[in-house]
Amino acid sequence: MFKISVDKEKCIGCGACVAVCDNLEIKDDGKAHLKKTEVEKEGCNKEASDTCPVQAIEVKEL
Ligand code: SF4
Repeated sequence: MFKISVDKEKCIGCGACVAVCDNLEIKDDGKAHLKKTEVEKEGCNKEASDTCPVQAIEVKEL
């Protein structure tokens, strides 16, 4: 299992993560939100984390 988190303080709402991973969405507050915070496989969450310009997305193996 992998635990995914988004640091809302760091997120600038650029949307780059949303473009590469459907586990994320931009909500009314203009920040990226996760649909699932724990996933079986890191999948596109890893790509989203690598893509984020401010390193706001953390992917941790549990
Ligand atoms: S890529 Fe990073 S800064 Fe951009 S919306 Fe996603 S979490 Fe926020």
